Amino acid sequence: MSGILFIISAPSGSGKSTIVNQLRSLVSRLEFSVSWTTRGPRGSEQESREYHFTTRDHFEEMIRNGEFLEYADVFGNYYGTALSTLKEAFAQDKDVLLDIDVQGASQVRAKMPDAVSIFLMPPTPEILATRLRNRSRAEGSVREEDIDRRLAKARQEIENYRDYGYILVNDILDRAVEEMAAIVAAERIRHGNDPGAGGADRERVLRIAHNCRQANSEARIRPVLQAFGVPVPAAKG
Ligand code: 5GP
Repeated sequence: MSGILFIISAPSGSGKSTIVNQLRSLVSRLEFSVSWTTRGPRGSEQESREYHFTTRDHFEEMIRNGEFLEYADVFGNYYGTALSTLKEAFAQDKDVLLDIDVQGASQVRAKMPDAVSIFLMPPTPEILATRLRNRSRAEGSVREEDIDRRLAKARQEIENYRDYGYILVNDILDRAVEEMAAIVAAERIRHGNDPGAGGADRERVLRIAHNCRQANSEARIRPVLQAFGVPVPAAKG
């Protein structure tokens, strides 16, 4: 397999789907992997567009048949990435973006150490709670215990940020989208497979991506970690 594998993880409600959708219109040759799940469709979701929806029996059969690159149980439902999705995209000379949780990301990293992983953080627990409430309201019901459960899960997931190569904070949507696009472009340049690598944008995307590297984003993520009560690394210098 020759393409680049990008992974994005974020706590539920961080605005990841919005960013990923905007990225679709900005970046070519990037395939968005459609996962399999045993949860039911939400809102306007359609079969094979957001997910391949299936039963637990079928999902477990796929596990037994070794059809998944990774799978995980998230909020009581199975979610998984089929190997065939990756193979098809790479065969067409495309890079692939996986939108998967932290458990799936660690399975993929173990199998494919060259994968480029990006963690998206919500700016504060308050903003995350508001987004989760709005989404639940749009779907018909707000259960405070669900919101609390998701906030606690968000905190746990954020603790895994050190395993990711790049960190984004979704405080300004356009900026987060621009940073995502810059990371894809910079990695393509690094892998030597960007046809437009000599363009005027080259220095700009390399600089933006460089600033999003985990090692360089300490000052930006420190207040987010503090707000979520996640231990903060000692300040440098
Ligand atoms: P949602 O139900 O809100 O669409 O997704 C819940 C969580 O499952 C999100 O964190 C999402 O990234 C994760 N997820 C979606 N597809 C996959 C997958 O194929 N594998 C894993 N491990 N997680 C997934």
